[in-house]
Amino acid sequence: MTEVRTDPLTGLTVAVNGRRQGRPRSRGEDCPFCPGGTEAPADYRVRRFPNRWPALDGGRCEVLLHSPEHGASWATMGIQQALTAVELWGECTAELGARPDVAYVLLFENRGADAGATVDHPHGQAFALPDVPHAPAAQLERSRLLGRCPLCEEPAKELVVAEEGGWRAWVPEAPLFPYALRLAPRAHVPDLPGVTAGGLRELAGLLTTVFGHVDALFGRPAPYLLWVRQRPTDGGRWPWAHLYLEVNVVWRAAGVPRYLAAGELGSGMYFTPLEPERAAERLRGS
Ligand SMILES: [Zn+2]
Ligand SMILES: [Zn+2]
Repeated sequence: MTEVRTDPLTGLTVAVNGRRQGRPRSRGEDCPFCPGGTEAPADYRVRRFPNRWPALDGGRCEVLLHSPEHGASWATMGIQQALTAVELWGECTAELGARPDVAYVLLFENRGADAGATVDHPHGQAFALPDVPHAPAAQLERSRLLGRCPLCEEPAKELVVAEEGGWRAWVPEAPLFPYALRLAPRAHVPDLPGVTAGGLRELAGLLTTVFGHVDALFGRPAPYLLWVRQRPTDGGRWPWAHLYLEVNVVWRAAGVPRYLAAGELGSGMYFTPLEPERAAERLRGS
């Protein structure tokens, strides 16, 4: 059983689940996610299933397979496959979000051992959370207090890495990791189910372009953390919700991990050794 505890001093929530230390790590051979593997007995294009090692109880954790090809990535799978994968994200958001016990659907992907992935087959995950978690709630509250949506504003030209129709990718002005990217529709769309079929195709194209740049910059597939922020599904209106994806590469150079260290976790202030404008220029040039 998972127990969600709140630190009485900091107010941060932690899900405690002792069973997950036993989960297998799998690389290459005997991949459970390849067609014919334990989690994917039949052929598939994309696939969703409950996580066998859930971090939370109550059918709240799913795995989303983005491609049947073990070595595929956003950069190489092709726009049609990327589109099928982002359509799966949208379906997953709509289905889990419709549950009365789900207030927030968090989609995310950890790629590579340095990013904590236990299986190296291309896959994402979904958490169907009973409450709106702290980070998206704080961000929505910030926009409400500002009285404007920062994602509706044009980023500085020097920070933009790629554009695809109504979508754009840029390096945030104040990124947590040297190589970070934000991908968002220009229009104030709240969530993936609200994106048109054409918009999803543009997102698929942008993911292909952006990860092509990321992997070219490092000369090999770089480990990253990706998450999707979208409107809570608790039935509230949430007028400030503007869909976006955030990507943080956990290397500062090829093979050199960038750790969040004591000065940062201790202060809540982050330090980056690379000007975001320079990071954008390097990403564009790769
Ligand atoms: Zn595989
Ligand atoms: Zn907006």
